[in-house]
Amino acid sequence: MPATLRAAIRDIVDFPQPGIVFKDITPILADGALFHEAVSRLCETTGGARIDKVVGIDARGFIFAAAVADRLGVGFVPVRKQGKLPWKTRQAAYSLEYGESIVEIHEDAVKPGESVLLVDDLLATGGTAAAAVQLLNDLGAHLIGISFLIELAFLKGRAKLAPYPVHAILTY
Ligand code: AMP
Repeated sequence: MPATLRAAIRDIVDFPQPGIVFKDITPILADGALFHEAVSRLCETTGGARIDKVVGIDARGFIFAAAVADRLGVGFVPVRKQGKLPWKTRQAAYSLEYGESIVEIHEDAVKPGESVLLVDDLLATGGTAAAAVQLLNDLGAHLIGISFLIELAFLKGRAKLAPYPVHAILTY
């Protein structure tokens, strides 16, 4: 079945800037069976571990993380780009495959000791996820794993996420 998921991903060359091959996951979202399959695979990455919250990364990560949270029957927490969250936040700066940014989390979104699964659509250089990990560590979360639909393994982003278990459904 991952072969079907893989076949649905559309490569957009030179988007959003020259040299980037953008992995467009919208065809998966638009197909009910494929979206269901993607969410099921991401849920399986918990290995049955009990979790309290699923944390998703702005913006495509929200789509998968919220669906995973609902499927697991737990809460969802957004890690957002700077300036979007209305309440008190913690911040972390990071660089990504194309540019630099700051991510934020509400300081009361995860309680110390809560078990969380971090989810995003794609692991590239790992900067974004590493910043999210820093936020979760700041809040005292127990991070049980980091799960992606897609990993661009040639960028070695996984190295930035040690020692946490990193799962990817599709690897390029
Ligand atoms: P990074 O911080 O380099 O791991 O970048 C990961 C974040 O940027 C994810 O939230 C992705 O949605 C996005 N991203 C980076 N590279 C790509 C790509 N080639 N195709 C699609 N999304 C990407």
